[in-house]
Amino acid sequence: MAHTEKFDVVDVIRTKRDGGEFTDSQIDWVIDAYTRGIVAEEQMSALAMAIFLRGMNRAEIARWTQAMIDSGDRMDFSHLSKITTDKHSTGGVGDKITLPLAPLVASYGVAVPQLSGRGLGHTGGTLDKLEAIPGWQANLTNERLTEILEGPGCVICAAGSGLAPADKKLYALRDITATVDCIPLIASSIMSKKIAEGTASLVLDVKVGSGAFMTSQDDARELAETMVALGQDAGVATTALLTNMSVPLGRTIGNALEVRESVEVLAGGGPSDVVELTCALAREMLGASGIGGPNGQDADVEDALADGRAMDAWREMIRAQDGDPDAELPTAAHTHDVVASSDGVLAETDALAFGVASWRLGAGRARKEDPVQAGAGVELHAVKGEKVSAGQKLFTLHTDTPERFERALEVLETGYSVEAGGTGADTAQRSVILDRIG
Ligand code: URA
Repeated sequence: MAHTEKFDVVDVIRTKRDGGEFTDSQIDWVIDAYTRGIVAEEQMSALAMAIFLRGMNRAEIARWTQAMIDSGDRMDFSHLSKITTDKHSTGGVGDKITLPLAPLVASYGVAVPQLSGRGLGHTGGTLDKLEAIPGWQANLTNERLTEILEGPGCVICAAGSGLAPADKKLYALRDITATVDCIPLIASSIMSKKIAEGTASLVLDVKVGSGAFMTSQDDARELAETMVALGQDAGVATTALLTNMSVPLGRTIGNALEVRESVEVLAGGGPSDVVELTCALAREMLGASGIGGPNGQDADVEDALADGRAMDAWREMIRAQDGDPDAELPTAAHTHDVVASSDGVLAETDALAFGVASWRLGAGRARKEDPVQAGAGVELHAVKGEKVSAGQKLFTLHTDTPERFERALEVLETGYSVEAGGTGADTAQRSVILDRIG
């Protein structure tokens, strides 16, 4: 360690290892020194594990978040003629909501800069989904981003490497050191990027259940409250919805399959849970932008889906990024149907099992440089709580590489069950929204 450094990293690690509280200057220094390469990966691994085990209080989390913001650039949309709003989901199986949501909100004259990522592990990435559309480009210059926001109003594109570079390094490290599922580290990671993006308001979709980081509602609430406080303290109007991720969202998982379902929602149809969540998040974003009264409750978002306003914005958005909204979507070369072996009710469709099955079929990647298959994934012909009869098609598996069916089926078999008796109506009609914070 160079003798000009303000702290010895071993002392900083020891502080947290022994259950102490970081000082502001320890946090500022350790994030900066890690970004500069002075703090080594193995030292940051030890520090991340100490934080995982000992936690950080709200003041430490706020300072940690600010230090990660200060490690890179901040975007500024204040020169736009429109107000900006954004949504972030903590990630779930079949979560295609950004696709119908961004054009729906933009159709009200609000700018929606959705800087998104690619999928890693069992949850898919928004950019991977849109790249299933022939011609569509994820990378835009800042000039083009501004142009599209002033025009169609919504952009879904890759986040530049300049936003919170400390988080980029730390997230990659957490991924390989079992320190991802830690509320202080998740909250600071997400909010550093969102605050650096410069949006005026933000709605968080915090998922709860087997397919999410947070499997208990109490943990999800704590994560949501922490992020809402960080956003509000930074001057970003922030609210959160806690939403169910114990079952997949909608009836498709996988890139092109999810684009198809999103287009159904934009055409006024689609599964009721996807429509419900899209409309609820749209109301939050519109309300924060001064449209539709308190919490956007009076915004006619269902009408905007039914009458084609949102679809028009979608088509403009896809064209603005060189995609062809009329092109046929890619389909996988091979399919395999799973049928019900008895009469009964579909009692379980576990989100994690379905996410992993889709990933094993080729829809997701194990390493960040892996390609994904546009057509791969799982289609659900029945959802949890529906009555089914023996021989009925329950799910269709899609892949270009049929040798993947066996491993995908292995995990899928553990994630669903058909039980005799029951009407099924109860679970099939339950709301996807569990709570609101903000
Ligand atoms: N998404 C992020 O960006 N960071 C996390 O830590 C977890 C999910």
